[in-house]
Amino acid sequence: MLNLFCPDLYIKDIYELDLNLIKQKSIKGILIDLDNTLLPWDSKCIEDKMINWTKQCLNEGLSLCIISNNKYDRIKYCSELLEIPAVFGSLKPFKAAFKKGMDILGTQPEQTAVVGDQIFTDIFGAKRMGLYAILVKPLSDREFYWTRVMRILERRLLKILESKKLI
Ligand SMILES: [Mg+2]
Repeated sequence: MLNLFCPDLYIKDIYELDLNLIKQKSIKGILIDLDNTLLPWDSKCIEDKMINWTKQCLNEGLSLCIISNNKYDRIKYCSELLEIPAVFGSLKPFKAAFKKGMDILGTQPEQTAVVGDQIFTDIFGAKRMGLYAILVKPLSDREFYWTRVMRILERRLLKILESKKLI
């Protein structure tokens, strides 16, 4: 059961992601969370560093797709600016969201990674679908009220995972 909440990889941020390692694992596509993973929560400021990172992924032959529980307008804005497709109308951690994402990427579960900052949506959703789950630290501590509540549980879970040397 704990396995479903345990990321396969835990890193500081997307820039720490070793693209060679990802390719060695035969991963061809990445479903990437928006808020506090790609951008600070509710920020629309897209830095050159991020654009370069997405270009690097594409140059390495990796497809990207945004998967976010935020509002349609925000997802659409970021998707267009970054020129990355996005999943609309489905919420994580429901399977439909990840299935739609894999349809967009054109990947099978074993070829797909998920990167996100929340265990109960990004990681749980990825693990129950058999996807490679990558947890990053949130970019900012500003977030939805409900997310802040969930962070209390998340911190406890991270401590358990750390004590069992699972991360
Ligand atoms: Mg997030």
